[in-house]
Amino acid sequence: MSERIKKECMLCGDIFTARNGKNRMCDKCRELTYPHLAKQRSKKSNFRDHLCVEVHQLKMYNHQNGTRLTYGQWKGQKFLGKIK
Ligand SMILES: [Zn+2]
Repeated sequence: MSERIKKECMLCGDIFTARNGKNRMCDKCRELTYPHLAKQRSKKSNFRDHLCVEVHQLKMYNHQNGTRLTYGQWKGQKFLGKIK
């Protein structure tokens, strides 16, 4: 029985397909939360992946802080050291 459940990610709000009912984060957020797991899965990363992760981090940041920063604003804040 491989039932696929559509769930909303608890961090970024993306709709993702959960492989089991316990999953509460999408793959991206789980990789960001547990980087050591992500490393095992894919060793090669390219620019597109990197950008995708950054966009995801921005979504997570906005979600967690209740802000609506654009990508540019977020990058600026990061550059100024206001966001780690
Ligand atoms: Zn997510």
